[in-house]
Amino acid sequence: HSGFVAIVGRPNVGKSTLINEVIGQKIAIMSDKPQTTRNKIHGVYSTDNSQIVFLDTPGIHKPTSKLGDFMVKSAVNTLGEVDAALFLIDVSEGLGGGDRFIIEALKKVNTPVFLIMNKIDKIEPEALLPLIVQYKNLYDFAEIIPISALKGNNIDTLLKVLSSYL
Ligand code: GDP
Ligand code: MG
Repeated sequence: HSGFVAIVGRPNVGKSTLINEVIGQKIAIMSDKPQTTRNKIHGVYSTDNSQIVFLDTPGIHKPTSKLGDFMVKSAVNTLGEVDAALFLIDVSEGLGGGDRFIIEALKKVNTPVFLIMNKIDKIEPEALLPLIVQYKNLYDFAEIIPISALKGNNIDTLLKVLSSYL
């Protein structure tokens, strides 16, 4: 159960927080700057029988320049090469254009994609289901897992299910 896992999502959805929570130390630099990923700062989660390398993959958004276009393409290439992708959303924000752009990029690869519904500590539980329905209409996710990266809720389930794909 070892492999590479890309974490994608709009800025501020909690990608770095999730990696920090999983790794248990501050490896992913808490920053929205795309350089963080270009410097390839990854987190490695190891147990006795598995090793999961997490790739923080920001930068999948509508490009406004040729360089931006190149960076989006290389991020999408990364998505095609990993064993699984975690698409993080902020459940307190709802579905926006940024999420739609990422979903279109996810459709270009065959990698299994998990919908990770982050920040569940910020909403009422009843608000989850309508959101799930909305996202499921756009993409056939391999798994859907609600978490709070900040509070550490349901991270154990995420790791268990993820391991079964690797
Ligand atoms: P990134 O841009 O996707 O890497 O997002 P960050 O990990 O830097 O998080 C952005 C902000 O959201 C920070 O202030 C985090 O503390 C906060 N955050 C991340 N996860 C959660 C969560 O599960 N619950 C709440 N309430 N805040 C969170
Ligand atoms: Mg970050």
